[in-house]
Amino acid sequence: MGIVYKKYLHGDKVLGCNACKTHFATQEHIISKDFYGMYGKAYLFSTVINVYTGEAEDRSMRTGLHTVQDIHCAECSTVVGWKYLVAYEKKQQYKEGRYILERTLLHYMPGC
Ligand SMILES: [Zn+2]
Repeated sequence: MGIVYKKYLHGDKVLGCNACKTHFATQEHIISKDFYGMYGKAYLFSTVINVYTGEAEDRSMRTGLHTVQDIHCAECSTVVGWKYLVAYEKKQQYKEGRYILERTLLHYMPGC
């Protein structure tokens, strides 16, 4: 991993890393709040910044088989969720290229 240039988001609904407060996304990027991660509630995002991805692997989930990559906070390396690369069931394919962030690992930033 090289030098990471952190980007910053603006708006009053910025979500970031609970551990180090790095910005990940704004509330407008949430596609669905009806997801579950390893620690309970999770959100599906259209895009997430300041993260890097781990190795791709196949995971069998409640909604079928998916190829995913863990996503890590670019600042503190905490695994904060995963990215969907491939969904093998047609009706799950809207998730491809989208990101899951675990609700309990997120911090809501005050307006900035
Ligand atoms: Zn972090």
